[in-house]
Amino acid sequence: MSKNTFTTGIKASEAVLPTRPAYWSYSSLQEMEACPRRWMLSRAEYPELWGQRGYPRLPAAAALFGDVVHAALETIVKKLVAAQCTSLRTAEAVQVLRSLGGITAVVETAMRDRLALLEGNPRLDGDRMKRLSVELRDRVPHARAQVQAYLSRTVLPATPRATGPQADPRTSAGPGRRPAGLGAHPEIPLVAETLRLMGRVDLLTVTQDRVGITDYKTGVEDPSHLDQLRLYALLWDLDRIANPERRPATELTAAYPSREIRVTAPGDTQLRDLEETVRRRIAAAEAELVASVPRALPSKQKCALCQVRQLCNAYWEQTPEAEPLSLGTWFDYQGVVGPQNGAHSWWLLSERTGQRTLLLRAAATMRVLPPGRRIRLLNLRLDDDPEVRAPVATLTAASEVFVLTNSEG
Ligand code: SF4
Repeated sequence: MSKNTFTTGIKASEAVLPTRPAYWSYSSLQEMEACPRRWMLSRAEYPELWGQRGYPRLPAAAALFGDVVHAALETIVKKLVAAQCTSLRTAEAVQVLRSLGGITAVVETAMRDRLALLEGNPRLDGDRMKRLSVELRDRVPHARAQVQAYLSRTVLPATPRATGPQADPRTSAGPGRRPAGLGAHPEIPLVAETLRLMGRVDLLTVTQDRVGITDYKTGVEDPSHLDQLRLYALLWDLDRIANPERRPATELTAAYPSREIRVTAPGDTQLRDLEETVRRRIAAAEAELVASVPRALPSKQKCALCQVRQLCNAYWEQTPEAEPLSLGTWFDYQGVVGPQNGAHSWWLLSERTGQRTLLLRAAATMRVLPPGRRIRLLNLRLDDDPEVRAPVATLTAASEVFVLTNSEG
């Protein structure tokens, strides 16, 4: 089958578009609903750019911190469950932590693993990587404290028999999965085949009279976290392999660093309503994929945080060449590289009029900008220079430069 490609107009960024996903998840549905074009551009392949699936993300230290806390928790909870510990306060739990080298050691390993995953990311040069590593290293004590806080509140039901690893439903929704019996099940995949929906629950606890679903949240509290938990309750209800007896979930917990929010799980009527809603949402998401290029739904708020806005012509069409901004404001800009003004500064020209619109200043390490080429710049800072009678912008460590080809899609 021939691959469906899309010309983004950015150098070395021809996109091979993704096909319909085998399974939807809470986050992929949400992203499709927010902006189908973003869903498509984020998940496409960019063979000229790198060998991994999706467009490379520019990670924020806060997001990496959350990943590290999450990964450290996963490692420790899995070991506690395997050792049949019911809480952190037992002698066996102390032994487990000792065997892992302590919480700090687990956090440091998670941090190294997370940073290793970033290697080869074309949006991260050596300087960016170094800054991220330093920032993460500085936060190890904070991450350790968070992991300790989550663990101190975690109560694990006794697990009468060993639980084996679960297969990853992203590659195989069937083989390797099995009923989730009495006990604790960290990082368990749940799949609703009838909806083609999947999710991975941080911690499922099953006792004789209760079934609890816990999601660890490292960010700020948000009502959408409870929506996600309700979706997990639906997945548990519909998963014929993990839950063959169709035991209802009883309790949903969003676990935050300093407290837990616990709600009653939806009952059967609510679950059936939710199932119908999700069915409709998935049908609508898949209708978006009928178009060869899914539509863009730009909005100031969404686009400002969009990781693929440099590839999105709909975004640039609505981005004004010049808008009144106050000093220190961060903004994006598309224009033509004009004459060099100094060793590390260039005039940028309007694409429409060819007039000088912006004086761009860069760090000494900045590579020379290609004269006459159209470029897109992300995260410029508006500065001031009383000697220059034009807006002055600075390329900072947070900025990115993308060169346009002449064949915009
Ligand atoms: S920049 Fe805006 S319109 Fe374009 S893909 Fe991103 S969110 Fe969608």
